[in-house]
This record gives sequence, structure tokens and C-alpha cells, in this order.
Amino acid sequence: MLTVGCHLSASAGNMAMVETARKIGANTFAFFTRNPRGAKARAEDAADSALAVAALKEHGFGKLVAHGSYTMNLCTAEKEARDFACSLLCDDLRRMAALPDNYYNFHPGSHVGQGVDVGISQIVDALKTALKPGYPVTVLLETMAGKGSEIGGSFHQLKQIIDGVGSDAVGVCLDTCHVYDGGYDIVNDLDGVLAEFDNIVGLDRLKALHLNDSKNPFASHKDRHECIGQGSLGLDTFRNIVNHPVLSRLPLILETPNELPGYQKEIAMLREMNTK
Ligand code: FE
Ligand code: FE
Ligand code: ZN
Repeated sequence: MLTVGCHLSASAGNMAMVETARKIGANTFAFFTRNPRGAKARAEDAADSALAVAALKEHGFGKLVAHGSYTMNLCTAEKEARDFACSLLCDDLRRMAALPDNYYNFHPGSHVGQGVDVGISQIVDALKTALKPGYPVTVLLETMAGKGSEIGGSFHQLKQIIDGVGSDAVGVCLDTCHVYDGGYDIVNDLDGVLAEFDNIVGLDRLKALHLNDSKNPFASHKDRHECIGQGSLGLDTFRNIVNHPVLSRLPLILETPNELPGYQKEIAMLREMNTK
């Protein structure tokens, strides 16, 4: 069975997300660890998390894919702002112990004119600081569309970060909209793109997917998500993904422009397309 779900609101706590996920046919989900456009995190609630952990196990959920705040830029130019971003990462990774053995995905950052190499070394430093040995979490770098000075728009950049950190607890979350916008043609040559990923990063580092269609054409470097089958990727691309021997085993997270009923339909559609 596919492990598929969507982004859910964390506002009512962890157990509420498990219940919502079950109602819409999901067996994984994503959530923001703190306000996606700010820094504030919810109060920690150990009892709620314990209930959620038991329910996830009882109902056979796959790994969850938490998402760091969009505003957390680990390679921003100003030292004070960078230190603040790093403190958010530290707190997020510490908090992941409440839902152990899941994934924490984030956008590597934007170097804002400092240059790719400086940006990458700052991201590496932040990860080395925040990712303490023995933490029950794997950090996933998200593949980006390469908008502005975004880092993570190429597999080589992700590989540089992974090598810099030098930990098995770092992997990649491939966002279908981002890679297509970023110039990797998963519509016409999914296997070729995966072979390239395997050569550069190693497929064993690929741990999760964000499933999004794109409002923009190939290599547009734009990053605007569209509902599954309604954008430039098209339904067949997602059919290929959910029947792919490697990809179909990973947690698949929808971040399409939907409310819960729309997500429920997309989850059902993906399950139906999965015939292998
Ligand atoms: Fe993201
Ligand atoms: Fe994404
Ligand atoms: Zn995006």
C-alpha cells in the first residue's frame, strides 16, 4: 500500500492530525513545526504526542514529514539573523523527539548574494550545530526550484551539503513541482532524472517526495504548485511515480492548493492509480 498523505494544520495538536489523516485516507502527513511565515512554535504537549505515537503505530502509518518554517534561512547574510535561524533549527530538531523516527524537511536557504559556496558552508555549519548525535530524526533537504538565490536547485548542491555535514541522518525530499521547475524533466524522463540523482547524491538518500503539479512550464524556476493532473506535469507523471519500484515505497506528501476534501480525492486517486 502506498504511504500517502498531505500537509495538515498542527493547530489542534499531534493527535488531531492523526485523526484528520485517517478521515481522509492518509497514512502519513506533513505539518509545520512552527508558524510557516514566522517563528512561533506551539507549546509542547507530551501527553498529546504520546497518544499520537500510539495511534500512528496502531494504524500502521508510514514516516511523517515535518516541515521547517519558510522564514528560517540558515544562510542569510547577517550573522544575528543567521544565528536566530539556527536556534529555530536546533529547537525543531530537539522537538522531533516527541514524534521519534520521523523526517524533518526544510528549505536549505537563500544565500542572498553571498554566493552558493558561502551559503552551503553556512547551511552545513547550522546542521552540524543542530543535529546532535542520537537524535531520533532524519533531516531532509528539499529540492528547490532555484528561484532567486535559493540553494538546493541542483542535485550537486544537495550533495555538497550532505558531504559537508557527513551524517547518515541527512537525506533528501524530492518536490516534483520544484525539480521540474528547476530543470529536471521528470515528465519525459523520470528514470533519467533518478539515474542522475543516483549518480550525484545516491538514491539511498532519497527518503520522501512532495507530490505537486506545477502551474509553470519546464525549467521556469518559479515554484507555484498546482493540483495533481492539472498542471504542466500531468496525470501520467504521477501515475509513473506511484508505480515506480523505488518512489512508490517512499512517503508521498501532497502540498497542492486544496482543502481537506480536495486532498481526500487526490489521495484516493493516487491509490487507485497504484496498480503494481
Ligand atoms: Fe517545502
Ligand atoms: Fe515542497
Ligand atoms: Zn513549493
